[in-house]
Amino acid sequence: MDSLPALDRDASPEALPDSPAAEAPTFLDRLFDAGLLVRTGVDGLYGRSGAFESVVEALDRLVSRLGADDKAEVMRFPPGMSRSTFERSGYLKGFPHLAGTVHSFCGNEADHARLLACVEAGKDWTEKQAATDIVLTPAACYPLYPTAAARGPLPQGGLLFDLQSYCFRHEPSLEPTRMQLFRMREYVRMGSPDEVLAFREVWLDRGTKMMAGLGLPLAVDLANDPFFGRAGKMLANNQRNQNLKFELNVPVNSVEKPTACLSFNYHQDHFGTTWGLTQADGSVAHTACVGFGLERITLALLRHHGLDLDAWPADVRATLWG
Ligand code: ATP
Ligand code: ZN
Ligand code: MG
Repeated sequence: MDSLPALDRDASPEALPDSPAAEAPTFLDRLFDAGLLVRTGVDGLYGRSGAFESVVEALDRLVSRLGADDKAEVMRFPPGMSRSTFERSGYLKGFPHLAGTVHSFCGNEADHARLLACVEAGKDWTEKQAATDIVLTPAACYPLYPTAAARGPLPQGGLLFDLQSYCFRHEPSLEPTRMQLFRMREYVRMGSPDEVLAFREVWLDRGTKMMAGLGLPLAVDLANDPFFGRAGKMLANNQRNQNLKFELNVPVNSVEKPTACLSFNYHQDHFGTTWGLTQADGSVAHTACVGFGLERITLALLRHHGLDLDAWPADVRATLWG
């Protein structure tokens, strides 16, 4: 299915403003018009309708069913995490441009009066905003590693966790699949290199079958994270050369630039070393995670099966809602 006629051309700057493509409603426009996503005035920040949420929830349950036999330990963190944990995680080395911090007012009454005057005048009012102890969670698994490490060495055979969180990334975009706040469902495996790589293989297979079973065209490809700056190019090359990241891509916004809906990441001993997480025998633990982008999979389904959920293929509806 490499030429879906109904897929919008990529909304790239090359599209001339007076070309017919520029006038056609985009996928995002159609999602707003159908009420599936709700405008907030900020690109990448949307409300979701009940119908949209019914798909997200069904996908969440479907992922749980796929992983049910593994008896993962369920843990849920809020969408904010400890700033000191975040600093130590190394996220700022790779992705300073995506991070979101929570700031709060720390002034006196005179500062408050100035703040209100600035708001009134439409000027910058954030002078007395100071960083709090909380940053926005960039990926569902980030708060987990120090939590697991604090329990002491892993038991024989390692550990498996089930996570879900809203995640923040400062990447405003008009592509509905690139949100600033979105939900990531994850499984995270901690153990020996063999154990975590076997876990990743299992989920590459399960994830592919799940998405194919939902009637979505897909391709699994080697990938890299968008590391910042010139040093980032090297990190991205290393990640690729070592086969550390795979993505399951589905054409959603365009056929030329398919969207990563699932990702399969092997961190080697990065988090084990960072957090002093060890295996039962005392050697440093390796970790891997599989991430499901719940909004992205929902959008892929809407893109391919239409905006009316009742009209989706019967087998897809049965898989999601039984
Ligand atoms: P991309 O290359 O498209 O930026 P990513 O490599 O940043 O994706 P991961 O960091 O692996 O993605 O995140 C795990 C999953 O979270 C992705 O497979 C995707 O489904 C989802 N995801 C990532 N970024 C976004 C976003 N901005 N909006 C919605 N979902 C996202
Ligand atoms: Zn993860
Ligand atoms: Mg990204």
